[in-house]
Amino acid sequence: MSDGPQARRLPADYEGMASLEFGPARPRDHRGPDVLVVGAGFAGSVSARKLAEERGLRVLVIDRRPHIAGNAYDTLDENGILVHSYGPHIFHTNADKVVEFLSRFTDWRPYEHRVVAEVDGRFVPMPINRQTVMALHGVELYGEEETAAYLAWVAEPREAMHTSEDSVVAKVGRDLYERLFRGYTRKQWDLDPSQLHASVCARIPVRSGDDDRYFNDSFQKMPADGYTAMFERMLDHPNITVQTGVEYADVEQQYAGIPLVWTGPIDAFFGYRHGRLPYRSMRFEHELRATPGGRLVQPTGTVNYPNERIPYTRVTEYRQLTGQVAETSTLAYEFPSAEGDPYYPIPRPENRELYHRYEQLANARPDVLFVGRLARYQYLNMDQVVAGALAAVERWSPLSAETDTEHLAA
Ligand SMILES: Cc1cc2nc3c(=O)[nH]c(=O)nc-3n(C[C@H](O)[C@H](O)[C@H](O)COP(=O)(O)OP(=O)(O)OC[C@H]3O[C@@H](n4cnc5c(N)ncnc54)[C@H](O)[C@@H]3O)c2cc1C
Repeated sequence: MSDGPQARRLPADYEGMASLEFGPARPRDHRGPDVLVVGAGFAGSVSARKLAEERGLRVLVIDRRPHIAGNAYDTLDENGILVHSYGPHIFHTNADKVVEFLSRFTDWRPYEHRVVAEVDGRFVPMPINRQTVMALHGVELYGEEETAAYLAWVAEPREAMHTSEDSVVAKVGRDLYERLFRGYTRKQWDLDPSQLHASVCARIPVRSGDDDRYFNDSFQKMPADGYTAMFERMLDHPNITVQTGVEYADVEQQYAGIPLVWTGPIDAFFGYRHGRLPYRSMRFEHELRATPGGRLVQPTGTVNYPNERIPYTRVTEYRQLTGQVAETSTLAYEFPSAEGDPYYPIPRPENRELYHRYEQLANARPDVLFVGRLARYQYLNMDQVVAGALAAVERWSPLSAETDTEHLAA
């Protein structure tokens, strides 16, 4: 195997590094990888670590980007502020297994994400809670019961929840829907909530109490040194080699016949033969602000802008997420866009159907493990991707897959 353009590390001596207990028999002169992992994000890196550590396999991880960590990549910007290059990533989970696995590679700092929405010049908590309702409707509500009763009174009953409009107006009524959801959703998806499946907006809870945390999960913490540092430790294993800046198509022939973990877009893997799966993308603009004394710019980590006259959907102040103290602060403005990297699968039934056609092709390839958000064409949080990769690798037997494993023969 030859080093790629930006080979990170190639162990000097591959021989004898595989666990004798689990490792496959190899010819003494075989120096290539046993498994190729395409993508160094959560799906690829977690899979690589499991395969290297528990199966004793030699794993080559490639990524077309010039860095590891996939969409969770963070780096210091030109002003020394830790920023997330592909949009703010907040870690939260209820899965002990995921926390246990990732905690081997990072310490954590407590961070509970909070969001406010800017409506008519004032900031109100999102998701909607008692304070949001009182502020926007100018009413006094004493306690959860009274708030729940008030919301039930303003809600518009719906017999069936077909669209996202249904799912919101049925819970909070038309006024709060118009002021907090409609414009935001139209900007985010370029579709009216009445054109989007009910599940999209139904994900956002409505609270009758004062809890103003964005997530309910039991574990809400950020990797203490950032995501990239966590990935560096995860991929730091004698059986793992990482090459960034490497496109799969350019090495496909070189590694033909080797079992593959595929974390890229599923339609790309099959040459788009049934057509392209559509995605919504995002453009990020960063703004630097002077913050003498280390003060913060925003009232919360993220501010939503549901007003359609404002072209961006939300603004996040990275230092609130990372806990970094500095005399400057970097804000990320999010502009949804039709062009660009594949970010959000568009949740429409015809797209799901198209995905299922690709899934059928994938089911006929036991030599390839399809894992992660792009391979599954599904919006998945980071913890879901980690849990999915841990479980998928557990079930996968790459070396017994119907594939050309001649190169592994003793
Ligand atoms: C704007 C935004 C904000 C988000 N915020 C959060 C959040 O706050 N909390 C949360 O839990 N989740 C969040 N997510 C979701 C999170 O980004 C994903 O769960 C996670 O990144 C998925 O990891 P993955 O490995 O499946 O995909 P990715 O991280 O995308 O990794 C796939 C990798 O494969 C590489 N690749 C693809 N094709 C090829 C090829 N042909 N050759 C070589 N390499 C290839 C890509 O370059 C990429 O690096 C957010 C997502 C977005 C879009």
